[in-house]
Amino acid sequence: MSALVDGDTEPSVITEEAALAHILKSVKSLSARRVPLAQALEEFAARDIFAGIALPVFDNSAMDGYAVVAGSCRLGQSQRVIGEQPAGIDRKLRVGAGEAVRVFTGAPIPEGADAVIMQEDVRRDDSKIFINAQVEPGEFVRRRGSDLTEGQKILSAGERIRAQTLALLAAQGLAEIDVGGEVRAAIITTGDELVQPGGSLGAGQIYESNGILVRALFSKCGVSTAAVEHCADNAQAIEAALRRGVKHDVLVIVGGVSVGARDLVKPALASVGAQTDLWRVSVKPGKPFLFGRASQCAIFGLPGNPVSAFMTFLLFVRPAILRMMGADENELSLPGYEAQLAEEVQNGSDRPHYVRGRLAEGKFTPVGRQESHALYGLSRANALLRVPPHEIFQDGHTVPILLLD
Ligand code: AMP
Ligand code: MG
Repeated sequence: MSALVDGDTEPSVITEEAALAHILKSVKSLSARRVPLAQALEEFAARDIFAGIALPVFDNSAMDGYAVVAGSCRLGQSQRVIGEQPAGIDRKLRVGAGEAVRVFTGAPIPEGADAVIMQEDVRRDDSKIFINAQVEPGEFVRRRGSDLTEGQKILSAGERIRAQTLALLAAQGLAEIDVGGEVRAAIITTGDELVQPGGSLGAGQIYESNGILVRALFSKCGVSTAAVEHCADNAQAIEAALRRGVKHDVLVIVGGVSVGARDLVKPALASVGAQTDLWRVSVKPGKPFLFGRASQCAIFGLPGNPVSAFMTFLLFVRPAILRMMGADENELSLPGYEAQLAEEVQNGSDRPHYVRGRLAEGKFTPVGRQESHALYGLSRANALLRVPPHEIFQDGHTVPILLLD
């Protein structure tokens, strides 16, 4: 797709939908790779997977007890114990009417038996058991294939691999899985006023907090960030950092994308031959967001205000990374939820406003100052509410929210 900006023409502000659509069209999923299961958590399946074996693998006991023929068991009567069948080996025992085999959880069901009576429901007396409960056919027997049949689809291409997915793959005997490509990312923070945490602040300085923020957001997407570097507001320094950064699949540069005289990122991108596709999106916070490209690298310019950086990462960078990792379409947006509004929320602006808040017991309450520098409120938020331009949401209304955790 052609860029939304041509040559020197100043790009106009575009909608978040148009921005996201352009970004998702511009990025490609990276080549799949085979990894051990232990490295596949939070990755995306590269292809469909079908069950090679049925689960359970064989009929087995759900309890410690006695395998019996249900039809021959009468309350109070005895059955003769003819053997013991532990889990892990099959002793090929056979149970007839009036007989029982001692079994343990996971043990193969001996031939002829059609039920297991729990040990709590019998009285054992030497080689006999006395039955203290009704025995139904099929009781406490886990049938072969009752959970999963051979050939059944267990994972679709693009699906997220979770802890429980890994357990299922392991139960299929798989040691490795093909997952989407590994995204290599770089982060550049910019600003003369910034001091790294651990250092001491001079007059007019603040601590640099976007580096760790973006790094953490990357890592929540399953990307272990390669390079993080900080640049002063200096054209040569930024150009040099950009040249290093564009060697990655994704480059996030934070700060310096606004309209101030110290906002050097756009001209620096042009100087290193990178193309700016879009700049300024109608969203609050986060308007000065920029997206561009340099050969295979997707470049995201995030506004320096921490809440803006956070929001634009989630709205635009996260879906792009997930797409590159091979995620299915419906994995790209944050999980949604319907909540009741605990108080009235207004958006007087002509941009959609993402209000930060807390979801508790089904209710969403805005939290902290709703301004783009206000990091404390953001730190307390676990959910977002998108309020359309010039909209008033009354308190008590049910609204769709986005979950952060
Ligand atoms: P900028 O986008 O560079 O104009 O920065 C907007 C605001 O965000 C300014 O108040 C900056 O001091 C602040 N800011 C920019 N980068 C960072 C950062 N890495 N950590 C904390 N604050 C930042
Ligand atoms: Mg700056």
